[in-house]
Amino acid sequence: MNPGKLQTPIDYLKGVGPNRAALLRSELNIQTYQDLLNLFPNRYIDKTQYYKVSQLQPTHADAQVVGRIINLKTLGEGRSKRMVGTFKDDTGMMELVWFRGHKWLRDRLKINAIYVAYGKVQKFDSTYSIAHPELELLEEHEKNLRSAMQPVYPSTEKLSNKGVTNRVLNLLMQNLFLEVKNELTESLSPTILENLKLMPKNEAFFNIHFPKSQPDLARAQYRLKFEELFFMQLQLIIKNQLHKSKIKGYPFSEIGAYFNTFYTEHLPFELTDAQKRVVREIRHDLGQPAQMNRLLQGDVGSGKTIVALMAMLMALDNDFQACLMAPTEILSVQHFQSLSALCKPLKISISLLTGSSKTSKRRVIHEQLENGELNILIGTHALLEDKVKFKNLGLAIIDEQHRFGVAQRSKLWHKNELPPHVLIMTATPIPRTLAMSVYGDLDVSVIDELPPGRKQIKTVHRFDANRLKVFRFIRDEIKKGRQVYVVYPLIQESEALDYKDLMDGFESISREFPMPEYQISIVHGQMKPADKEYEMNRFVKGETQIMVATTVIEVGVNVPNASVMIIESAERFGLSQLHQLRGRVGRGADQSYCILMTGHKLSETSKTRLQTMTRTNDGFEIAEVDLKLRGPGDIMGTQQSGVLNLKIADVVADNDILKIARSYAWEIIKNDPSLKNPENKAVRRTYAQVMKYKNIWNYIS
Ligand code: ADP
Ligand code: MG
Repeated sequence: MNPGKLQTPIDYLKGVGPNRAALLRSELNIQTYQDLLNLFPNRYIDKTQYYKVSQLQPTHADAQVVGRIINLKTLGEGRSKRMVGTFKDDTGMMELVWFRGHKWLRDRLKINAIYVAYGKVQKFDSTYSIAHPELELLEEHEKNLRSAMQPVYPSTEKLSNKGVTNRVLNLLMQNLFLEVKNELTESLSPTILENLKLMPKNEAFFNIHFPKSQPDLARAQYRLKFEELFFMQLQLIIKNQLHKSKIKGYPFSEIGAYFNTFYTEHLPFELTDAQKRVVREIRHDLGQPAQMNRLLQGDVGSGKTIVALMAMLMALDNDFQACLMAPTEILSVQHFQSLSALCKPLKISISLLTGSSKTSKRRVIHEQLENGELNILIGTHALLEDKVKFKNLGLAIIDEQHRFGVAQRSKLWHKNELPPHVLIMTATPIPRTLAMSVYGDLDVSVIDELPPGRKQIKTVHRFDANRLKVFRFIRDEIKKGRQVYVVYPLIQESEALDYKDLMDGFESISREFPMPEYQISIVHGQMKPADKEYEMNRFVKGETQIMVATTVIEVGVNVPNASVMIIESAERFGLSQLHQLRGRVGRGADQSYCILMTGHKLSETSKTRLQTMTRTNDGFEIAEVDLKLRGPGDIMGTQQSGVLNLKIADVVADNDILKIARSYAWEIIKNDPSLKNPENKAVRRTYAQVMKYKNIWNYIS
């Protein structure tokens, strides 16, 4: 084996000159032989299948047609100047169109010779056309046909414009294989290969680029997907174990008076089974001499606050302080109020610190924090200020963490010798499919059960044309004493238009619901924070009945009396956002409603989103659908996890393979944690490469 070979710069490959090398680098990030080898096809086309002109459909993505160019003419002026060839077979005519390279083509194209034209088919008026087709004389085409399945590689417009077409990539791949075919050493253990009947590595690579048959291709894909997922899982599992053994933390060995008194005498309600389970999980972690870093997921209203409190009581029982940080002032105030109420019988000292805390009050808080008089501090980012020094912070709880960066979080760490335990609470569920793959066994607790007696929020979809009925419904609800949210989208790209929509909406609602009978709050991102707070507070206090807002109200506000959520232009929101918004209602005893307003024109994806919302209230189910619609890119934590770097596997589509890969990764780590066993030699070597190149596919040599 020659480990250097695959790291050869791409410039040295036959067929790649300095220009192509620069293009491959800038467009596809291909630097080395290895990178080209890892350029996996997006799909395969059957090059033995030809279409007749009469068989073409507007829905065809790419098609291959055999015919003759019977004439060439130049049409149009300036930017729309183009050369059009009439392409004819025995069933009809279509057009081939070129916007560039006219002279070159005129010199080479043979009128009346039989060509195979391949490309994306479009229909204008009643004529089909292919712009910049790949053209090959039929005779050549048949001679060159190595395999029925021709790979289609990822590409960019610039690449094809500069002549690095799919055919060129295919040729380069052939040249590459001549060079490296002996370099592809096995990376999995004999046991795994045998048990799963996997295709050997070199064969798999060959077949992914030059498939001999459909079954061979399927086996090659399976093998490479398995490999990718296996090493991703191995990495996650090892990283997680390292983390556990490395970061020391203060063990809370006592379960003492605070916790026990609260649990036996002052619980305001019976905990749900899910809450009990999560409290046990946290309690176990806190008892260890390692730092807890746990994510607590629970849908809106699932009761995370009381769990947070019980964790804080464990800290207090061990003579530590605790803090809880929330992303907004309103949320911190609400947390402060509900926690103070719960703690009342316990004689705990608890304070609130936010941006608007008075200087005199701050001074007291700073002092009490440092001398240990203060047990629990609740607040906003203000907690991260340098002046805030805890005597002994044992537990930091962060609510709705997506608003806090990692850097901010680690600031909390530096207030002690050892880092405090960290509990992050979020209402954005991570789909189970992803949780397993992304977090390995990172510590995630899930409250997957709502407290008993909750009324399901009724969700309906209404078209804009029915607005008057919706207004009538709002009026009835307000008459019953309820409050109503009306939310407008605000997307950065169309900000000006969106503000106009919001203002128009506000005006028409003000007309329908005139003062003084009705009071309306409005909150949006262009307002000063103080004005926002003021308007929000009027609604919280019940002084206004309607809150017109952009998505700024998404996070955490608790107004139990609000029972109607109207979402305007609902088709423009993502699923998780819709679900978060809906979670603003349904917090009180009354039946709550969510009304999704849209126009008539809806894409398939929007329809799926709306149907999902009207079908279910289950955040996890919604998250699964969202994952299928959007892919894992937007989901928390995926950035670091490596799922986005996957080149061939897809954690959603290939979830079955993932599960198998994961169980094999566990098996290996369990039996041979340092991969010393000769049987695992290949795995060990490959894993070292993965770590070295920080990319799963950079290890083959
Ligand atoms: P979230 O998870 O959204 O933060 P909260 O902790 O604010 O939810 O709880 C929502 C509401 O449910 C609160 O009013 C809380 O008192 C109540 N609650 C929480 N747990 C239970 C339970 N086990 N039984 C009844 N009510 C509960
Ligand atoms: Mg909450």
